Formats: sequence, structure tokens, C-alpha cells
Amino acid sequence: MEQRTELSTLGEFGLIKLINEKFPINNPETLKGIGDDAAVIDSAGKELVVSTDLLIEGIHFDLSYCPIKLLGYKSVAVNVSDIAAMNAIPKQITVSLGLSNRISVEAVEELYEGIKAACDEYKVDLVGGDTSASRSGLVISITALGFAEKEKIVYRNTAKVNDIVCVSGDFGAALMGLQTLEREKQVFLANPDMQPQIDKDRDYVIERQLKPQARMDVVYELRDLGVVPTSMIDVSDGLAAELLHICKNSGVGAVIFEDKIPIEDQTYLTATELNFSPMTAALNGGEDYELLFTVKQEDYEKIKNMNDVSIIGYITNDVTDAKMMMKSGNLVNITAPGYEHF
Ligand code: ADP
Ligand code: MG
Repeated sequence: MEQRTELSTLGEFGLIKLINEKFPINNPETLKGIGDDAAVIDSAGKELVVSTDLLIEGIHFDLSYCPIKLLGYKSVAVNVSDIAAMNAIPKQITVSLGLSNRISVEAVEELYEGIKAACDEYKVDLVGGDTSASRSGLVISITALGFAEKEKIVYRNTAKVNDIVCVSGDFGAALMGLQTLEREKQVFLANPDMQPQIDKDRDYVIERQLKPQARMDVVYELRDLGVVPTSMIDVSDGLAAELLHICKNSGVGAVIFEDKIPIEDQTYLTATELNFSPMTAALNGGEDYELLFTVKQEDYEKIKNMNDVSIIGYITNDVTDAKMMMKSGNLVNITAPGYEHF
């Protein structure tokens, strides 16, 4: 049998000590991490960018098919993605936990293994947090701090008419991964002896759901190219919803092209097998964590050969109206049911 140590045997301070030992500080800007009343950070003359996410068991994740280590990784990655969307560099995170008595010390250690893997991947320091008991499942709140020069920070309300609309990566895969896992879970619950089997031909969509990546590579590439986007947002609630956010906030419209929306073959195949429209999955599926951004026309030459970035349309003066040019030549309005938990 797997070892199970109750949290009560370690206590809150024992747990914090255990966490602290696993997270040496890597950034010179982190002057004080875990261990005092507050962390101390040198902003090196830059602007500070702060973002927080709250993840609640049963609402945002399901431990019956999400391994807790990957949950730790994902919790950090989605926060780093918000910092990336400001065109800033993430440097520190805090992690606050509400722990139910279903969670053992071993499970917390696995959670922090995933958190550590993401901290290493994105080069951020864990500098603090809070820990409490919870009566309603696992609760994880992560705050990420990032920094950038004032003139590099990119907002979502500054897209201009005629700007080029770009996206990183591809869309709809995370939703198809979620649908696959939900179905596996139904089969699993109906027959407890049955082991969920992850097909090779679903590996990409499942990875996109369980282990999303923050696109810091795109932020660094834009810096290397000397391009500051005119607006940017990360795609957590679906491409359509995020494009509408940019349009509404910037007081502009947009036209995107159906045949330019990047969708992976495996997303197409899974969608077809599950009776989903692949385009609906791409436009309205959530949790892609790609970047949606606009650049000036004059930056076209610089960005046209970017790695894993597609140009999907342009900004119009058709205020707050986003449209898609279909392969058929019809222009259709883009709408977004979005993801709302209430
Ligand atoms: P305080 O009573 O000042 O809130 P705590 O005992 O809660 O202090 O925390 C002690 C130190 O451990 C602080 O630096 C805090 O940021 C850090 N810490 C507490 N919980 C966590 C956690 N879950 N992950 C990382 N650091 C934590
Ligand atoms: Mg505390």
C-alpha cells in the first residue's frame, strides 16, 4: 500500500519547512522569500505586474482524473500565462492552500513537485503563501509577480484600426482533452474495475488539458525581434471571447479568417469522433492559454516568420464588432458564450 501521512502529524510549520527546503531562490531580485512576515523584492526600476488565480476542487479541477502533480504545474502555468499576456517577465509566485483531510502529506509533496517543475520551467521563485485547513476540498490560490519596463507593458485596450491580429499555437485541443477525460471518467465510474485508457491518438489533446504551457517563448521572441504588440491577452476562455475583449476594451472591431485559425489534426479527429464542430471547439473552447495579440502593419516583416505564430486577421473601425470570414465567402458575427462558473 502507498504510504499515507496525515497532515496533522507534520503540522502547519512542519509543512512550510518541508516546502521551503525544496525551493531555493534563483532570481537576484528576490531579496527575501519564505520565512518572514512578507517577501522582499527588488523591482530594479521596473513596473510590477501582479496576477492572481483561485482554483477550487470540483469547479476548476477534478482530482479523479487530474494527477495532483500536474495540477500543481498547471496552477503555476496559468498564472505565468497572465504575466506573459502583459508582455512582462514572471519572477515570483506565492501559493496559498486550503487542504482538506483527504489530502495527505505525500499528496502535498506531489503538488509541490509539479509547482517546482513549473517554477524551474518559467524561472520563478516561490516566495511565500498561506496554508489552512479546508472543509470543502482542495483550494489553491496562486499569485504571480512579473516585471517589465513601462514601455514594454501591453494592455488589452490599445488595439488600433488596421493592426494585424496574431495568435500563438493552436486552439480547441484543451477542450477536446477535457471532453475525452470526462468520458473516460464516466466509463470508470460505471465500472470501478475498468482502468481509464489514454489512447495514443488522444495524447496531444489530453496533454493540452492537463499540462498547458504559458507562452513565455513568444514573449521572449517578440523582445528579440524588437516588437511590442499594440494589445495582448491570453486565451483562457476561448479565442472568440478574448478577441471580443480586445475589441470592446479597445473600441475597435476585427475580421478573422476561418481558414487561418490554427487547429491540430488530433483536435479535428477528436472533435469529429465526439460530435463536436472543430471550429466551435477552437473559437469557444477554453484553457488554450495561447496568446492573442495585435501588431502594427509596419511590424509585419518582423513577425511574419515567428515560430508557432499565425496571422489570423486584422482590426477594423467597426466598433466592438468581431466577424469571421468563412471559406464560403460569408461574413459571420463572432459570439462568445464564454466560460462562467455561476
Ligand atoms: P504568517 O503567520 O505571517 O502568515 P505563516 O506561518 O502563515 O506566517 O507563514 C510563514 C512563512 O511561510 C511565510 O513566509 C509564508 O509566506 C510562507 N508560507 C506559508 N504557507 C505557504 C505555502 N503553502 N507555500 C509557500 N509558502 C508558504
Ligand atoms: Mg499565514
